[in-house]
Amino acid sequence: DQIKEQLAGLIRDVPDFPAPGVLFKDITPLIASPGGLAKAVEAMVRLSPSEVDTVLGVEARGFVFASPVALSLGAGFVPARKPGKLPAEIIETEYELEYGTERLAIHADALKEGDRVLVVDDVLATGGTIGAAVDLVRKAGAELVGITVLVELDHLGGRKRLAHLGVADIAAVL
Ligand code: IMP
Repeated sequence: DQIKEQLAGLIRDVPDFPAPGVLFKDITPLIASPGGLAKAVEAMVRLSPSEVDTVLGVEARGFVFASPVALSLGAGFVPARKPGKLPAEIIETEYELEYGTERLAIHADALKEGDRVLVVDDVLATGGTIGAAVDLVRKAGAELVGITVLVELDHLGGRKRLAHLGVADIAAVL
């Protein structure tokens, strides 16, 4: 529809970033646009479940969307961060990157058992990052009720890669 077209028009394709052969979807023009940011967040909220206790956002661009989505849903916000950033006791998980591994963590007391958690990020690419976020939700004993992203890069197979996790709903605006 019209909103999708508008939003897609605010995303810049950058070839060969961060490595040769990669076409990077740059969302910074979209979030720099007052209307663009609001419309992106509204569209993400529309696709999300309504009964959410906590929105888990992934460092760093995920924070930009997860926090306003949380506000709009009347939920709290929990940051998932790279190692060494969270000051208190953490729960962490390791996941595969193209070269090597990466780690992601949340505070050990950030999610309570049974909390209804929505995972939000800007871009779903290979699914490694979202998979790690889902792992953290489950390690904390919380309930994953949905995953919402702004952009899904279908050709990278993230949805397929996440299928084995039994992840129910993956919603993508674009
Ligand atoms: P994945 O783990 O391969 O799914 O990659 C997703 C993570 O990398 C997200 O946290 C994104 O912020 C980032 N990412 C991967 N590809 C892109 C892109 O083309 N544009 C913006 N972010 C990207």
